[in-house]
Parts: sequence; structure tokens; C-alpha cells
Amino acid sequence: MSTRSFRELPLSPAIQATLQQLDYHEMTPIQAASLPLALAGRDLIARAKTGSGKTAAFALPLLTLLNPRWFAVQGLVLCPTRELAEQVTKEIRRLARGHDNIKVVTLCGGVPAGPQRASLEHGAHIVVGTPGRIMDHLERGALKLDGLAMLVLDEADRMLDMGFIDDIDYVVSHCPTRRQTLLFSATYPDGIARIAREFQREPEMVTIEETH
Ligand code: ADP
Ligand code: MG
Repeated sequence: MSTRSFRELPLSPAIQATLQQLDYHEMTPIQAASLPLALAGRDLIARAKTGSGKTAAFALPLLTLLNPRWFAVQGLVLCPTRELAEQVTKEIRRLARGHDNIKVVTLCGGVPAGPQRASLEHGAHIVVGTPGRIMDHLERGALKLDGLAMLVLDEADRMLDMGFIDDIDYVVSHCPTRRQTLLFSATYPDGIARIAREFQREPEMVTIEETH
């Protein structure tokens, strides 16, 4: 079936070429369900299991939305762990390689903050990191989110399990209210419904059930 082809999406020729090079020919089910809505600017609650291609489901709309000529943080991705933040950064960089100079900075705990501040000073389009360290950089004024167009909560259920809700609240309070907010989660506990109500605007719910 060709209905899951990336070709039908409003993506730039540069991104289409990168997807071809990466052998991304068909969208995964969560991508097919999320991408048309996210590219149309909708807020989303997207539920699908691990390994289903959720990173591209938010990275492609983010790369489409941002202006590479403007050196401001336009996308912020919150992840539960450093390992996941590094994986997300890697995937965004792969998908961004057809663009000139999209800078992605990873901000996680467990490593010195000084070099992270230096990276931010040089300018970043996208920040990926864990809530606590991002909060630290906001508190110190090293990170500014006034130009943010898209906020992504990746593995939101895990972030809640790990007790990051206060840090997330703090970070979101520093984001412009006019923004697109995408929430990705494997499960949908009450806490997720609550943050969706608080942080999102008329979110569309997209669920890919596990098939056994
Ligand atoms: P999730 O966040 O849902 O756990 P990932 O975004 O990490 O999943 O994707 C899992 C793997 O699938 C990655 O190696 C990614 O490069 C690959 N992938 C994602 N989308 C596609 C696609 N449409 N076609 C082929 N491979 C894909
Ligand atoms: Mg993921």
C-alpha cells in the first residue's frame, strides 16, 4: 500500500531526500497517524510502544517548522534519561542532515554544565534534554525559550514515574503559551491526562494498539 508513503506529506525536498537516503520508505503506523496532524500544527497525544518510530513523528514536524536562519531555541524535547536524550539527538541530527546547519544541543545531568552553557551561547535551534538540567539552565539564564515554537514531551509516562513533574512544570512555565505541544507516551495513566489538560491546546489523541 502506498498510503503510508512519506511522499504524500508536506515535507521539504531536502527532508524527502534524506528519508530516501536513510531507507525510510514507509511511515510506521504512529508516524502515519501523527505526521499529518503535527504538520498541520495540531497538538498531539501520541501513544505507541517503544521502537515504533516516535522520534521521527516529532522530529520531522519540528524540522519543518523551524527557521534555520534564526539562531534561537525553537524546539525543546524533554526526555526522561540522558541515554534517551542522546538517542533522540542522534535521530534528529540524522533527519536534519539535508539542512544547512541545524544545531541541536543536548542538556542532561551527570556532566558539567559549563560546556553546555558554552554550546548555548554559540546558538542552538533545538535543545534535547532531561527536565532537571534544563531547569538549571533556565534558572541561571543560560537558556532562553522566548522563541520556542514546539515543545515535545517524549516518554512522558516515564518522566512522571521518575518524579519530574515539578521540573516539567517549571520548564513549561518558561515556554511561550503560543506554541505547539506534542506528547509521546507508551501508556496513558491519569497523570498524563492531567498534564495534557494543563499544557496542551485541544490535543488530538492518536493511539496505535499493540498487535500480538
Ligand atoms: P520509539 O521512540 O518509538 O521507541 P524510535 O524513534 O527510536 O522509536 O525508532 C526506532 C528505530 O526505527 C530507529 O532506529 C529509527 O531510525 C527507525 N525508524 C523510524 N522510523 C522509520 C521508518 N519510517 N522507516 C524505517 N526505519 C524507521
Ligand atoms: Mg522514543
